Order: sequence, then structure tokens, then C-alpha cells
Amino acid sequence: MTEFHQNDVLVVGAGGAGLMAALYASKSTSTAVITKLYPTRSHTGTAQGGVGAALGNEGEDHPEWHTYDTVKGSDYLGDQDAIEFMCQEAVQTVYELEHMGLPFSRTPEGRIAQRPFGGHTNNVTGKPVPRACYAADRTGHMILQTLYQQCIKNNVTFYDEFEVLDLLIVNGAAAGVVALEILTGKMHVFHAKSVIFATGGHGRIWAITSNAYTYTGDGVAVALRRGIPAEDMEFFQFHPTGIYKMGILITEGVRGEGGVLLNDTGERFMERYAPTAKDLASRDVVSRAMYIEMQEGHGIGGKRYLYLDVTPDTVNKYAAEDGRTRQDGSPYVVTAEEILSKLPDIVDFARTYLGVDPVSEPMPVQPTAHYAMGGIPTDKLGQVVIDEHNTVMPGFYAAGEVACVSVHGANRLGTNSLLDIIIFGKYSGLQAAEYANGVDFQELPADADNFARQQLDAILNSTGNENAADIANEMKSVMFDQVGVFRTEDGMAQALEKVRELQERLKNVNSTDLGSTFNTELIDIWELGNLLDLAEVTAVSALARKESRGAHAREDYPKRDDANWMKHTLAWIKDGEVELSYKPVVITKYEPKERVY
Ligand SMILES: Cc1cc2nc3c(=O)[nH]c(=O)nc-3n(C[C@H](O)[C@H](O)[C@H](O)COP(=O)(O)OP(=O)(O)OC[C@H]3O[C@@H](n4cnc5c(N)ncnc54)[C@H](O)[C@@H]3O)c2cc1C
Repeated sequence: MTEFHQNDVLVVGAGGAGLMAALYASKSTSTAVITKLYPTRSHTGTAQGGVGAALGNEGEDHPEWHTYDTVKGSDYLGDQDAIEFMCQEAVQTVYELEHMGLPFSRTPEGRIAQRPFGGHTNNVTGKPVPRACYAADRTGHMILQTLYQQCIKNNVTFYDEFEVLDLLIVNGAAAGVVALEILTGKMHVFHAKSVIFATGGHGRIWAITSNAYTYTGDGVAVALRRGIPAEDMEFFQFHPTGIYKMGILITEGVRGEGGVLLNDTGERFMERYAPTAKDLASRDVVSRAMYIEMQEGHGIGGKRYLYLDVTPDTVNKYAAEDGRTRQDGSPYVVTAEEILSKLPDIVDFARTYLGVDPVSEPMPVQPTAHYAMGGIPTDKLGQVVIDEHNTVMPGFYAAGEVACVSVHGANRLGTNSLLDIIIFGKYSGLQAAEYANGVDFQELPADADNFARQQLDAILNSTGNENAADIANEMKSVMFDQVGVFRTEDGMAQALEKVRELQERLKNVNSTDLGSTFNTELIDIWELGNLLDLAEVTAVSALARKESRGAHAREDYPKRDDANWMKHTLAWIKDGEVELSYKPVVITKYEPKERVY
């Protein structure tokens, strides 16, 4: 039996983007949030380093500088109208979070504390500027807790531990979703006037990743199955500092506090690759430098890792060399106590997972799959746009990591995702509510849950003997090796062939749990299908783009090619085949230049 529900606005996902959207939509509509996780377990809660806004509390800063840095960081693929909007709105929205009760770390004067992050610069000197507003190294956790409390206060209805499987579209407009209640295995149809997807990213495609197990790209996969394209999927960010072999993230805030990367000879190699920004160059630049160092045999002990050193002696030595000062002009000198108080979780992770104490020893790190620049195409108000002409799909919105606005272009700057989720979460919520208040409910077909049921039945009725975990592991390793930091035609073609073979094998999966109570095996297999679809779209989009830009670095086409490739990729799945098209990048003030850090 299927249960029915009705709300004006439905938000899928209870991370920072979903909660911000729900908070704003619920001010004028009946709003429900559907989430596969308990809200405060969303991946936003793991974000460590900070949220970017040019408050200028710890050094001169301006929203215009933030805008330019973001455009440059994006390797000029970001849409400049949307970037400008985000960086201008940032200051006011961070203060809004403060007024909601978010416990930011403070400067001695009591202002919101800020630290430097990669690619955020003083536009005059090119030196790092403190722009990341932080709550120790638990910024995302604090955002999530604050917004959840506000949503409860605003009477948002929550459906926790419901897996959304399908988007309902009537007359070309969004009309609701279908979800599985994980506890009971019961199907639910949620009828709505507008739907916001805020389902997060898909880093679980790759073997080494900082992403939660739940980062399986459900939102993009569901949209693709309903004929909606995915934008710029070839751009996936590798963060320079994941714990060796585990991928667990060590925040860029460590380098913001003065930590440096060292190779086997003890050299601070980033000085050679990025003479001005050094360890705080943008992430694509640092990850590539690390790969080259390891390729040339400069990994520690010849292995595939390098050192991230935040011990006070090392920090103070290089801070003196760089001439770094505090805001009052005194030399930048840190103590072990200061490291502990600013990076408590990092110190704890390193001690727990590595048996390494970062206050006295360097940490072994390697680049880790981290962030999806691509996703469901939207305009700067969160409205989903479904073709090369940016045609708006009525009633459908997307915000956060699932969306591609595009403010991150080919490479996101650190702290700009927490910013993205609060800005575009807010505006998608406002837009969805305004739209809902102007239309009536559309009539749903009687068999609205049919397509979702078919997908689950195919898994439950499969009589094959393929092991889902094996399929997942094969996908992860081929994507990490061939569609990772560096790419070639042959490698990507090989990955694509493998992914297609795995998609076929998944049709013969062996599902052993046929029960309805908490059938996590069923959900894992459905999610693996999503990851494989997204891996395919990623590889096809990447193979087509014959240039290097941001996170997409091709050994066979090492240069950026603005004449042919200054455009966004759109990918559809039609009759089982990936189809590509392109749309222009919005350029307002900043003409494309070569990036120098
Ligand atoms: C370890 C780590 C550290 C980071 N640190 C920073 C940082 O310091 N600064 C920064 O700017 N960015 C950081 N990022 C990136 C940033 O945190 C994320 O991009 C951002 O928080 C994503 O928020 P979101 O709201 O889009 O998604 P999430 O917070 O992941 O929420 C997704 C929601 O969707 C729900 N969902 C997903 N699929 C379904 C489905 N099928 N049915 C129902 N519900 C579903 C989930 O239950 C969840 O509630 C970090 C990321 C990681 C992984």
C-alpha cells in the first residue's frame, strides 16, 4: 500500500542547503523536508574549515575581491553574474547565521574570527587574505545544528530516513516525489506544488574520498532518469590533504593556520609551483603539484603520500620566511595550545586514525576525491534550467552540492561551498514558496509510484549472482586511477568501458535480503546504480572535453583552450545513451586570463 501526503513545498535533503531552503519556504508555505539521514547526520556536519565572506575582520577585504578570486579559481568557467551575487550576499548572510545563534570563533575584539584559505587573496598584493569565518574546525556542524533548530522552531515537517527514488512531473512541471520509508519498506507519494532537491554530492564514485558513505548522487541520478540534464560533470575536485589511504579530510584550515606541505627531502615544494600563494594556491593546482612530486619519486619514502606539517616550529619558521604578521603588525608566531584550540578535531582525527600527534609530528596526506562542481543546472535563484537556452522547469529547484549554478566552474575555492549552500538554499526556498503561492496542485496519475517500484522490483527479483560490493570496488578503483587528478584519452576510455560493463553486471546482482524492514542492502544497490550512471556521465563528459581546465587535467591536452572550450557541458541520458550539448559561460567583468598563483 502507498501512503499519500500533501505539502506546498517539498525539500529533499536536510543538509545546510535543504534546511536553509526549508527555513525560508516555511515562512509562507506548508513545507516538508524528506531526508534519508537524520538531519544532523548530513554531510554538511563534517565541514571543518569555514564559510567564506569578505567581512574584513582580520585584514582588508571586499566582496569584489572575493568575486574575482572565485572567478579566477573557477578557471573562468564559473558564471560571473551568479558569482557576483553570491559574494555580495555572503556578508549579510553570515551575519544572519550569527543572529540565529551560530557560535562562531571570535577575534580578541569579539568579532567573527577569520582564517586564510586557498585561492582567497588580497587582490593588490596577491597574498592570502583571512576570509573564512569559522567555528573552530566544526563550522559545518554548527551551521547544521543552528539551522535545524530554526526549522523546528518554524514548524517545518520532517520525514527522517525516507529514501527519495523518483521525481514526479506533470505537464512539464514538478509535482512531487516518491520515497521509500526505510524503517518499514512502505512506499510514500508526496504531492507538492514545488520541489527542491538538496541531496548533496557523489564522491563515492572514487576509491579515496573525503565523502560520506551516503554521497551517492541520488538527486542528479533521479533527475537524469526524468530527462533533466547534468551540467559540467567532468569537473570533480580532488582536495590535496586527505589522510593517506583513508581519504578522511584534513581541512585546508591547517594550511590557513600556517601548516605547509613537505616532500621526502623536507622541501616546501609548493614554493616552486605557486611562488606567491604557495601552500594556499587553489586546490587543483596543489593536488597536481603533489601528484607530480610523487610521480618524480619525492613521496615520503618513495610512497604515494607527502607530509602536511603544522608543528609550531615549522609553522613559525615559514611564517617568518613569508613575513606573515598578525593584524596588529606583530610577527605571526603560534604555540601548541593555539593549534589545539583552533584545530581540535583535526588533532583528534590524526591521533585516532594515524597514531600521529600533529602538534609534534607531520601528517601523511594524499589528494582525496572531495567535491562535485557539476550537478543539476540552475540559475542564480535556484530554478532548474533544462537546456542550452536556460529554459526554466516550473516548480523544480536545486541547491547545494547537487546543483550546478555555476559558481564554482572548473574548480571550487575552499569555504565557497558552505557559502553556496546558505545563499542558494535561501533563494531556492524563497522562489519555491513564491511559485507555490501562485499555483494550484496538479493532478497526479493514479500509478504515481510505478517507476520507483519498478526500479526496486528489478533489484529484488534479480536472480543473478553478481556481488554488489565487488562492482562498487571495481568502479571506485578504475575511476580513481583513470578519471582522477590527471586524465588521458586511453585511460578514460578504459574507465568508460569498465563502467558500462559494471552497469550490465548490476542487472544480475545477487540481493539476499528480500525483507521490508530496514533493507539497507536494497538501498545500497539502488544507490550503486546511481553512482554508476554518474560515473558514466562523468567519463563521457570528460572524454569529450579536449583541454585542461581547473580540476579536469588532461596529459594529452595540457592547455586551457578558451577558443573551443569556454562553455558548460550538458549531459542527458536518452535511451540508455549519454548525449552531450553545450551552453555559454556568463562573463560580466572579468575577461579570461592565465591563472598565476
Ligand atoms: C569532509 C568535508 C569537509 C568539508 N569542509 C568544507 C568547508 O570547510 N567549507 C566549505 O565551504 N565546504 C566544505 N565541504 C563541502 C561542503 O561541506 C558540502 O559541499 C556541503 O555541506 C553540502 O551541503 P548540502 O546541503 O548540499 O548536502 P548535505 O549536507 O550532504 O545534505 C544532503 C542531504 O540530502 C539527503 N539525501 C540525499 N539523497 C537522498 C535521497 N535519495 N532521499 C532523501 N534524502 C536524500 C541526505 O539525507 C542529506 O540530508 C566539505 C565537505 C566534506 C566532505
